[in-house]
Amino acid sequence: MSVLEVLKYPHPVLKQVAKKIDSIDQDLKVLANNMLETMYKAPGVGLAAPQVGHSIRMVVIDTRPKDDDGNFTDEDMTELEKAVTYPLVLVNPVITKKEGTIKWEEGCLSVPGYVEEVERAAYVEVNHSTIDGEEVTLKADSLLAVCVQHEIDHLDGKVFIERLSQLKFDRIRKLIKKNGYDQPEA
Ligand SMILES: [Zn+2]
Repeated sequence: MSVLEVLKYPHPVLKQVAKKIDSIDQDLKVLANNMLETMYKAPGVGLAAPQVGHSIRMVVIDTRPKDDDGNFTDEDMTELEKAVTYPLVLVNPVITKKEGTIKWEEGCLSVPGYVEEVERAAYVEVNHSTIDGEEVTLKADSLLAVCVQHEIDHLDGKVFIERLSQLKFDRIRKLIKKNGYDQPEA
């Protein structure tokens, strides 16, 4: 497995609508594993294929909390979050149901150093294929719901700062333009 370079906003690949995946082959499985490695190393809780330069509809997610020793724990997870087998690899995810609203402080490996509160659906159902080609439905709330929506946004060419008010978005975009990501000032 290898750690991949994560593209930074406003890289053009991050603005493209990613292509649907027609077939799952060995190359795709290798990419999924490398994306997981990249996500864990960062560390992050989710990563979408466009963030590593592949404009295709696949995301990896692992939102499990960690204890003081750095081991995964299911403490503070919701029942829906506990019901999931981690890590998640979602191929061609499609949100089929959204309910309620939730606000969460989000960050992004493609916009390092910036954290802002974003409002999203509190509960989502997502049809997707597993990396083994099985068609399944994911039911998610809390952080997992937030993360799934954040990652699927990447597949539609959107980063989380574009979900903020125009004022906040303009401020962050200016800071990025001025400072790059070497000395971010959020
Ligand atoms: Zn992101």
